[in-house]
Amino acid sequence: VQIIATSERTAPASMHKPVMIAVGSGKGGVGKSTLTANLAVALAKSGVSVGVVDADIYGPSQPMLFGTTGEKPEARDEKLVPIASEHGVSLLSMGHLVAQGKALAWRGPMAGKALAQLIDAHWDADVVLVDLPPGTGDVQISMLQHFRPDGAIIVSTPQDLALIDAVRAGQLFDQGDIPIIGLVENMASYVCPNCGEVSDPFGSGGIEAAAERLDLPFLGRIPLSIAIRKDSDAGSPPALGDTPDGRAFAAIAQKLAA
Ligand code: ADP
Repeated sequence: VQIIATSERTAPASMHKPVMIAVGSGKGGVGKSTLTANLAVALAKSGVSVGVVDADIYGPSQPMLFGTTGEKPEARDEKLVPIASEHGVSLLSMGHLVAQGKALAWRGPMAGKALAQLIDAHWDADVVLVDLPPGTGDVQISMLQHFRPDGAIIVSTPQDLALIDAVRAGQLFDQGDIPIIGLVENMASYVCPNCGEVSDPFGSGGIEAAAERLDLPFLGRIPLSIAIRKDSDAGSPPALGDTPDGRAFAAIAQKLAA
C-alpha cells in the first residue's frame, strides 16, 4: 500500500483512484472509530488529502467525531458528494443517510447497497479510510468482495477476548486476499493524571506479541486516556493536538504514509 500525496501525483485527477484502507476490529467498543478518525486527521495534517467512509451501520460515530452530525451530503450525477469536515477530512457516513437516533435493522443486500453509495462517491482524496462495523458480518464480506480495499488495519485492546476476535477478523481479510497492513493496540497503558503511575487495565503488549506470532507488522499502541474520550465526544479529534495522545496517532499515521 502506497499513499501518494496530491502534490506528488503524476496522473491526471480524472484517472486518480484513492488508496482505500479498511479499519476493522473483532468486536465493538475497542476504539476502531476513534482510531480511524485520528489517523485521518493525522494524515491530513501531514499534507495527505483524506476521506473517511463510516461503514459502521450499527453505530455510525464518525459524524459525532468530526462534528458533522445532522448534515446531509448532496448528490451530483447520482453520486454522493462527501461532506467537508473542519479538520481537513471529507466524510460520508451511514449516519448521514438515516435519521439521527433511528436504529438500523438492515439485511445484507440493503446494507451492501448503502455501502456502495458511500464508497462509489465523488472522492477526491489520496486515501480513503473505511471504518468497518465490528466483527465479520455482511458488510465486511461485501466490502472485501466488491470493493477490494488495498489493505486493512486491525485494532484491538490487549485483552484476550478482544484479541481472539481480532485474529478472526484478520483471517477474514486473509481469505479475501486483502493485505493486512498491521495491528494497532488501543487502550494500552493508563497514566494516572494525579500521581503519574502507569497501569494496564486491559493488560499490555498482547497485540504486539500477537502480531509477532502471526507474522504481521505491529503499527503501534494508543494509551487509555481520559483526554481521548473527552476530545472525541467533543468532536475535536486528539490527533489535532501536539500532545502525547496526538503524537501516538501521528506515529501510526507516519508508518502508513511511509
Ligand atoms: P469502536 O469503533 O471500536 O466501537 P469507539 O472508537 O467508538 O469504538 O470507542 C468506544 C469508546 O471508547 C468511545 O467512547 C471512545 O471515545 C472511547 N475510546 C476509544 N479509544 C480510547 C482511548 N485510547 N482512551 C480512552 N477512551 C477511548
